[in-house]
Amino acid sequence: MGQLKLTGITKSYNKTQVIKPIDLTIDEGEFAVFVGPSGCGKSTMLRMIAGLEEITSGTVEIDGQVVNDLPPVKRGISMVFQSYALYPHMSVFENIAFPLRVARMEESEVKALVHKAADVLKLTERLEHRPGELSGGQRQRVAIGRAIVREPQIFLFDEPLSNLDAALRADMRVELSRLHSKLGNTMIYVTHDQIEAMTMADKIVVLRDGIIEQVGSPLELFHKPANKFVAGFIGNPNMNFMPCLCTKVEALSVTVSLHTGITAKIPVPGTDVAVGDTLTLGIRPSDMTVGAGEVSIPFTPEVVERLGNETVIYGATGGDTPLCVVADGNVRVQTGEVQTFGFSSVDAHLFRANGVAFARKVDLAALAELD
Ligand code: ADP
Repeated sequence: MGQLKLTGITKSYNKTQVIKPIDLTIDEGEFAVFVGPSGCGKSTMLRMIAGLEEITSGTVEIDGQVVNDLPPVKRGISMVFQSYALYPHMSVFENIAFPLRVARMEESEVKALVHKAADVLKLTERLEHRPGELSGGQRQRVAIGRAIVREPQIFLFDEPLSNLDAALRADMRVELSRLHSKLGNTMIYVTHDQIEAMTMADKIVVLRDGIIEQVGSPLELFHKPANKFVAGFIGNPNMNFMPCLCTKVEALSVTVSLHTGITAKIPVPGTDVAVGDTLTLGIRPSDMTVGAGEVSIPFTPEVVERLGNETVIYGATGGDTPLCVVADGNVRVQTGEVQTFGFSSVDAHLFRANGVAFARKVDLAALAELD
């Protein structure tokens, strides 16, 4: 139970269509994350699924039943918001119990369900406290507890961690993943933070301007981004992009000339491309090496961040193309001087002028086995 199917969903405010027709299926038990920059339509999508926002056209189905006309409480979903929306004068117990009180449930049942949720969320010791006596993370857990007691088919989370500091956010990510393995419910989570998407999702849905750019597992999106937008959005630090010119096309490779006059033969199928086309080469910072590589490029490091386990080097190549390299923690780097950095052509990504990626040879079945 808990399969969600969206068919041709759109949303318009006055004459502006903010969600273009979207088709999407989220399977039972999946942890799906909607991610994208602010204003791309993530919250609107979630609110339409919840029944808090009218759908302009299309259908929302939960377990095969069209729920377009069902009010939120009848959809078998629970939603957790960024603002915890707790009642300050009520105890943690009463805050969690609130939806059960509204449903006029028997006291013994209320107690059992609240204690079960508190146990899962490690809140048992706090049940008699007021929200004001809790940390931000604990308050968010109370809000999640209130969603859990309703035993929904589907949980909806709208940026639930954005009010927490970085360390707590990292802890809560792990707790939410644990909660998902324990409960096994379908979860749909909205965030603008690609790290939250990468760390928690079974399935990431990348949105931009009301359309889906790509749907896939975290590693699929990382290794096989469908286009330059997804390539730049997923991965931290961002992928490096360098303008280049196609100089040779073969069945299984495309050779490009970088602005620095260096050529690279990228192992991608030479389809829908011609000599003279302007392309973009993408290379992840972690795929670059300090010193020469199969492809070597001159790079002037400007800022070096020593993180202990790794060193992040920011600078420019070919004059003004920004470049970032993630190297070993103890690597020697001289700022302000041109040095040679390298990468392997198999690690490169190649994009057409319209942003669409050339297909890379990545063994997705092997990646899937890692989970
Ligand atoms: P996100 O959650 O990705 O930041 P939203 O779903 O909140 O984005 O908004 C998507 C788009 O819809 C934005 O351009 C926003 O300005 C617009 N929008 C959201 N709510 C309304 C509204 N009530 N009236 C008009 N436009 C709205």
